[in-house]
Amino acid sequence: MTITVKCKLDLTDGQREAIDKTMEVFASACNDALEVGREAETTSNVKIHDRCYYDLREDHDLPANLAVRAIARAANILKDPDREDSTVRPSSIDYDGRTFSFKEHDWTISLSTVKGRQKPITLDIGDYQKDLLSGRDPSSAVVFRKRINGDVTYYAGIHIEVEEPPPNLGEDHDWVGVDLGVENLATLDDGTQFVGEDVNRVRDRYNRTRASLQSKGTKGAKRVLRRLSGRERRYQKSVNHRLSKQIVEKAKAEGKGIRLEDLSGIRDRIRGSYKLHSWAFAQLRDFLKYKAAIAGVPVEIVDPAYTSRTCPVCGHEEKANRKKQAEFECQSCGHEEHADVVGARNVASGGVCQPSQK
Ligand SMILES: [Zn+2]
Repeated sequence: MTITVKCKLDLTDGQREAIDKTMEVFASACNDALEVGREAETTSNVKIHDRCYYDLREDHDLPANLAVRAIARAANILKDPDREDSTVRPSSIDYDGRTFSFKEHDWTISLSTVKGRQKPITLDIGDYQKDLLSGRDPSSAVVFRKRINGDVTYYAGIHIEVEEPPPNLGEDHDWVGVDLGVENLATLDDGTQFVGEDVNRVRDRYNRTRASLQSKGTKGAKRVLRRLSGRERRYQKSVNHRLSKQIVEKAKAEGKGIRLEDLSGIRDRIRGSYKLHSWAFAQLRDFLKYKAAIAGVPVEIVDPAYTSRTCPVCGHEEKANRKKQAEFECQSCGHEEHADVVGARNVASGGVCQPSQK
């Protein structure tokens, strides 16, 4: 799978100017190529290339491979029926191995622009990005800019290829089942629980501060609120990194794959607070997926239906099996276990059949 590693760029004034100018030129080259394709009624990269490559280079003074990328971008847009009349705005540039390079030893990149090759461009990145980029030789990227609260920030989305382990390994393979939740952030089928005490304590503190600030409603209070939610997100993110790393390391050490439930399962279980935390679950799942891919650990997503109320011992499914949020007691065979562990065991075995299919 291709993973895009989003890296903030720390640009000098000259580099920013060169990239801004190149964004303009790249967009107008894309738009020229779009026009050529529409006039010739073709979506073929090759045909558009034949018709306008030299014109694009000459008219826009564009480096060769940026012209190639502009034509490819135009051809992709033309192939998309939903983008019939769309044009390209000057906010991004596509790079390939000729126009972009990455150096790990000082975490920099170089980029072709209409004002010459810009290097070194410093990547302003943390361990997350370094982990992903380390030991790799990426050969494509998208450079883009975003306006956030009036400030323009520049990024390179660097593409890396991660070889995915084969899916559908079947029942012979051993799996670590993961049940995600709020009280226990993650529970594994062997009973390992990653308790969210710290996370919940921090969250409660934020929630209390938030409530008192919201009741004030002043401008200053709003500013503090924004800063708070940023900090809460960063905290949750570091927790998700740690958690996903531990789960992947455990699965790898045991020679197992990882099975997760579909996020809709979590949503149904914790209805009230899901909205508040949905991004955190999605992030944890994404971290698990990419760390597993890098580690060569297969990941499967399992249908979450009935995993929380089906007995992992006798297969009996009944709502009453789940006595409380944390307690499971099978109404048929009497098996008792922590409800999250039951969920994880059912996920590990690939989910449970719907009652009608039994
Ligand atoms: Zn049972």
